[in-house]
Amino acid sequence: MADYKLFINGEFVAAADGKEFETIDPSTGEPFATVAQANKADVDKAVAAARAAFDDGRWSGLRPEKRAAALNALAGLLKEHAAEFAELESRDSGGTIRKTKGDVGGATFTFRTLADMAVKVPTEQVMERTVMPGPSLNYVKREPLGVCGGIIPWNFPLLMAAWKLAPALAAGNTAVLKPSEITPLTALKLGELVKEAGIPDGVVNVVPGLGPSAGEALVTSNDVDKIAFTGSTAVGRRILQLASGNIKKVTLELGGKSASIILDDADLSLAIDGALYGIFYNSGQVCNAGSRLLVHRSLHDDVVDRLVSRAEKITIGPPLDKNTEMGPIVSKTQLGTVERYVKIGQEEGAKLVTGGERAQVAGHEGGYFFQPTIFTGVESTMRIAQEEIFGPVLVVIPFDDDDDAVRIANDSVYGLAGGVWSGDPARAMAVADRMRTGTVWINDYHLISNKYPFGGYKQSGLGREHGMQGYLEYFETKHVHVDLSRDRAKHRWFDVVVPPLEK
Ligand code: NAD
Repeated sequence: MADYKLFINGEFVAAADGKEFETIDPSTGEPFATVAQANKADVDKAVAAARAAFDDGRWSGLRPEKRAAALNALAGLLKEHAAEFAELESRDSGGTIRKTKGDVGGATFTFRTLADMAVKVPTEQVMERTVMPGPSLNYVKREPLGVCGGIIPWNFPLLMAAWKLAPALAAGNTAVLKPSEITPLTALKLGELVKEAGIPDGVVNVVPGLGPSAGEALVTSNDVDKIAFTGSTAVGRRILQLASGNIKKVTLELGGKSASIILDDADLSLAIDGALYGIFYNSGQVCNAGSRLLVHRSLHDDVVDRLVSRAEKITIGPPLDKNTEMGPIVSKTQLGTVERYVKIGQEEGAKLVTGGERAQVAGHEGGYFFQPTIFTGVESTMRIAQEEIFGPVLVVIPFDDDDDAVRIANDSVYGLAGGVWSGDPARAMAVADRMRTGTVWINDYHLISNKYPFGGYKQSGLGREHGMQGYLEYFETKHVHVDLSRDRAKHRWFDVVVPPLEK
């Protein structure tokens, strides 16, 4: 079995207490690699390495062009090793090889985009000269924050690692990344490429371990200046509390229960494909999954019939088979969660119109496969319409008009994303404007770009990733004021506390 170590200060090392854990292939239920398990001592060591690397300026002191060159080199290496990374990601997370190939491409693009921003986004702005209350020159600088901790989930392990590391490094910070204990391998493997790309030791550290130990050690460390977290709202809430010790900057990308709305003028074949993609992509284990489908009442029965017949044709299989459209659920625990919610839905009185059970895949009897599942007869108040299931379970809710659709869409503690399907762009935009979510796709779904901000309203998050707004989350802002009064007496503060000028 392959054995993976922690990546600290440019070296692969065992955990201080020698502890290891096994990572499971969700398509077989069998362990396939051992991984060093970081504890507080290891996280402290990684943070100390990142702190030293930040404080001595070996990275932040480089010209942006040099940092960009290293990030582009990292992107180039990732592209070279794309097939290896995609395969490893599929085995570790259960994501289909089609998806994980896309994820490696997305991670590569993220490093390239942020390399570009490192060079192009100005870090200093000279302001207009002011004359009131006295003449002065003012400029505003953007400076890196320091040590950035990244804590990431299991559904897009490599992509999430890139989303945390690329902006932190582009801005001149150093980083400690804690991958999910369920899917740690590609982030650790990225450590090999970080070294090869010439990024100095200590600038990137990767320490997989459990949330309450390794994760909390990172969040409570006084040497960490920012935590960027992606994961569940419950853990995000805890992180927000724990990070208050040294007033860390915190950005949170949390859960969702996003609504995809099919208006009565939609192109139905597109909308139905989009709805299926919205919920069943990565077996529904996507934070912005379109897990609530709101359908105009006049179309409801037709849409449901077509959804069911299409869903039943989705090919469920092992992630490495290129014909597989839906792979397994990531873990036995998550599979149990999905099964529990199906039972809750039935007990609440919703109608299970397809799926609802584990799927059998020949040769993979121990795998955590689950059928694409659809409920109708769902009230917005039901738990299956309110709580994030994070699996291949769609709830369909009818609505009467656009106002009703908006009301149901906004009836959620979450506000991550949503979709509108319509033949009338102006009408779709009017609906989008009223949705209380960080992203709305019109006649599309799941499109997240490094170029546009992504994040949640309400309990779906704090701050944004991507776009200019996401990049600026990795900087401190400093205003420098240079007094230009030539006449000493004209300093505006003279008459406040300073005794009158000597004659
Ligand atoms: P999770 O919150 O259980 O774990 C996420 C990460 O936090 C893991 O690395 C885990 O080890 C760590 N963690 C757990 N407890 C911790 C603690 N007390 N202190 C510090 N770290 C801790 O989430 P998950 O089950 O891995 O992922 C699924 C969740 O993530 C879903 O709710 C999903 O919506 C959300 N998610 C959100 C986005 C987004 O961008 N908004 C993207 C992907 C996933």
